[in-house]
This record gives sequence, C-alpha cells and structure tokens, in this order.
Amino acid sequence: MIKLSTPNIGEDAIDAMNQVIRSGQLVHGEECLAFEKELATYLNVNHALVCSNGTAALHLALLTLEIGPGDAVIVPDFTYPATANVVAVCGARVVVVDVDRENYCIDIKKLRDTVRNWQGPEKLKAIMPVHEFGFPADMSAIVELANEHSLAVIEDAACAIGASRDGRKMGTIGTIGCFSFHPRKTLTTGEGGLVVTNNAELADKLRRFRNHGMERTDKGMKFFYPGLNYRLTNFQATLGRHQLQQLENWLKRRVTLARDYIELLQPLVVEGKIRLPETNSGHSWQTFMIVLDRRYNRDEIITLLRAQGVESSLGAQSLTTLNIYPTVDNSQVTTLVGHELFTQGLALPFCEIYDRNTAIKVVQALSDSLN
Ligand SMILES: *Cc1c(COP(=O)(O)O)cnc(C)c1O
Repeated sequence: MIKLSTPNIGEDAIDAMNQVIRSGQLVHGEECLAFEKELATYLNVNHALVCSNGTAALHLALLTLEIGPGDAVIVPDFTYPATANVVAVCGARVVVVDVDRENYCIDIKKLRDTVRNWQGPEKLKAIMPVHEFGFPADMSAIVELANEHSLAVIEDAACAIGASRDGRKMGTIGTIGCFSFHPRKTLTTGEGGLVVTNNAELADKLRRFRNHGMERTDKGMKFFYPGLNYRLTNFQATLGRHQLQQLENWLKRRVTLARDYIELLQPLVVEGKIRLPETNSGHSWQTFMIVLDRRYNRDEIITLLRAQGVESSLGAQSLTTLNIYPTVDNSQVTTLVGHELFTQGLALPFCEIYDRNTAIKVVQALSDSLN
C-alpha cells in the first residue's frame, strides 16, 4: 500500500530521545529552549514558544489577545475544524468566509466585503487566515485590511512550516502565528505545536498562559492570571530539533514531487476530470490535494484507489457544512467553494520519502479509477 504519508524519523533522533528520557528531565527543559532558539532563527522571528499541539497554539493566541464572549473572529470555510473550534470554545462568534478555488486559502475579496460590511452585534477582533496545505495566503492584503480596521491577525500556519512569501516565512507576518507538529505535518514531534510573535509583550503573555499563568521569580512562583498547561515535553523537543535540521531538504523534495505530480496529471486536467492546486514558489506542500470533477463521487474514488494499493483521503472540512457552530449561517452551504473542495477534494500520497516513481504509480491508479 502506498500510504498517504509517513512520518520521517531517523535512528539518530530516536537515540537522542532515549538519552533525554534516561536523563530524567522529561517536561519543559533545555531541549525545549534549544528547539525554540533554533525555530526562532529558522523562521526569523523574535519569539518562538513550543507547546503541546497546534490547537493549543491557536488557543494560546486567542487567550493572549483576550478574545472571548462579545467578540467575533473570521476564519476560512475550508480548513481543519481546530481553527474555528478554539474561537467557539473561547465563547467568541465564528464568522466563516469562503475560500479561493485555486489555492484553497481565504478569498480576499469576500474577506474584504465581510470586514467592511461588518454590522455586529459582536466586535470583530481578528482574522485567522489558514495557509492551507502550505500555500502562503496573501498576507500583505490581509494585514493591510486588518490594519485598516484595527484587527489582530492570527496565522494558522499549522500546515505551513517553511512556507514563505515575498521573502518572509508564513506564521511570522501577522500578530501571532501558530504551527502544528502533528505526524501529518512536515515536521513532527508526535503531538506538538509552536506559537510565534515579534511582540515581546504578547510573548510574555503566551509564555504565562502556556504554564498555568505563572512565572518563576527569585521568590518562587508568581501567578498572573488563570492559565493552562500547554507545555511540550523535553524529549519531543529533541525529535523536533532533529527534524528541523532536515526540513529545508525535505521541502525541496516536496517541491520536486509536486512538480512531478503536476506534470503527470496534466492529461487528466485536459480531459476535464480534475483540477490541480495553484503553485507558488513559497508553497511548502504539506498536502497535495486535487479536485475531482463533479461527475465523480470522491469517496468511491478513494475506495477504487485503495483496491489498487493507493491510500488517499479527503483534504479538509468545510466549516459551514459541519453545521456545529451555532453562529454560522449555513443556509447556502452548497454554493460555497469550501463545500466543493470538501466534497470533491482528494489528497494524494505525498511526503518527502516519495519520488517520481511513486507519483507515476499513483497517477496510473487514479487514471484507471476515473475511467
Ligand atoms: C493540523 C491542523 C491544526 C491542529 O493541529 P494539532 O497539532 O493537530 O492540534 C489546526 N489547523 C490546521 C489548519 C491544521 O491543519
């Protein structure tokens, strides 16, 4: 079976983790601090704080920006639900904006309309763009709009470590950026996450919220406000450090694999059977998702592919289609691009250990399945 993706964990990383476990220093420690330093350098950002997972990173961002009841946050329709769940859990209103049919990120024109025509009653506080599958969303447009209306920008860069646009790494352009180190992402620590900012005051708050709202002083513990425990373990940080060393190499391989897929899939595009994702020089290609023409039932295609030894899956959810956010108007679900991407999107096997031969086999199986 060609798996959708496989975590890439070397023996050297496993040996190093063993050492950390034997040391007895298991929770937040030296390895976490070293990992944070390396991440800050890699991303070129002032403050990088590792945490227990990507959802925790998003939650820390909202807590730090004091977003809660009476506030509203804009999220794209097509994403993993964690993006909106943290908003709902904080008691704020989830406002969904449709996405672009080529790059799967928030639709800038519809975003502008939503912000400029905002009527409340909640106070619009933040925009949460998602760099979907590693495509770098148009941050200049988003930040310009946010500044115009005094909104914070929380980048959901969960899928986008290493993605960039105009020479800047995604996640470092908005007010706060959030990353995930889940095994389905390019860099993994098992569970794991990262929150980054260039603002020192926000960094202090993020750090406290991550650790019970507490800071250690000469006199002991000082509790500033009620916080959580969203720390990463020391041995996970070791795994992350080893992964980070290889990240640039992996990203290059992913670009090459995406190019191979795009070339090999061309005949299916010409026949009108599929659409390909938009490319961008800063795309980090966490997932390679094509869109099947409406004549196909995506789930049937997944079954046919599996019968040929190829694992595939849906790409992401449509928040509106989920129908679990009481504040979201879902009366026109089926007209949304996000709905089409949710029902017709097909993620193909994709990770840095695959090469052109894998792509050839997958595309052959896909061509057969679509006939
Ligand atoms: C994976 C993902 C998350 C959640 O990250 P976890 O580490 O699994 O909590 C949030 N948003 C997006 C867009 C994701 O892809």
